Amino acid sequence: MQLEMLSVECPHCKKWYSHSELLSYSTFGSSECWSDGKCVNNNLSEYSFMPFSKCEKCNNFFWFDDCRKIADYEISSYLNSNDVEPENLILIVDFLKDNPEFKIKGNLDVSLDYPHVYYWENMPKYIIPDYISILEKSNNLNRDREIYIRTKLSQHINDFVRNSQNSLKLHIKYSRSIKSFFNFKHLKSHIKFSFNNKKLYKEYEQLRTINLMRLSELYQETIDYEDSKMSLIEIERELGNFEKAKFIINGLDRIDKQHNKNFVESSLKYVLKNSAKIFKIR
Ligand SMILES: [Zn+2]
Repeated sequence: MQLEMLSVECPHCKKWYSHSELLSYSTFGSSECWSDGKCVNNNLSEYSFMPFSKCEKCNNFFWFDDCRKIADYEISSYLNSNDVEPENLILIVDFLKDNPEFKIKGNLDVSLDYPHVYYWENMPKYIIPDYISILEKSNNLNRDREIYIRTKLSQHINDFVRNSQNSLKLHIKYSRSIKSFFNFKHLKSHIKFSFNNKKLYKEYEQLRTINLMRLSELYQETIDYEDSKMSLIEIERELGNFEKAKFIINGLDRIDKQHNKNFVESSLKYVLKNSAKIFKIR
């Protein structure tokens, strides 16, 4: 894994943060991939290198691509220079107020705390409202970003039922010993967790449909691309439009089919069963 350490500036309030960008990454260990595009990797969390974040100072979401990037030496040179432009001077004063340790250590040590620690307790529950907020508040969301946010939104709603084992199965999976198996407090908490997730899935059902319909619209614009075709097969099938999904599958050329053999063959099986369930590809 190759990382680049940068300092970035929040485009809304100008607060500076240290940020690491992933330059290259080779896959080790197994990853589990699902028909809706979600891949779970054992070594790298999907939340480690998201293209957007949330500013702790102004509470706005921002995309790293929109941030002014500042190297640490730039900040030091600002501090050591005598002829600082007034605009930069304000920035430096503000910066030092927010990051007093910089003067001593000479580097920026303020990482963004997003997703927040408490999100991990139930990631979809906490991150879905953020995706909704980004869609509602951004008036200049371009097509790629809208696809990214809507795809993540759809995958996280699916997360509520992704491992839709019953509570007893879940309990067995997470019981590390006989003692914990007979710990009924754990069993009760697994039943409650599973129950609450199914409830949340129901609550988001309408949003899920609207979101998938909009994604379908966005992918129709580039239907000639292989990725768009695969995404549309899944979206239409998840929407219960089985005839439409079958039509796209039947229209695939030999190369598209070969590249996505597992996905296409399984999708067709599910379409013929009129099943809109997400499934594991590997
Ligand atoms: Zn900000």
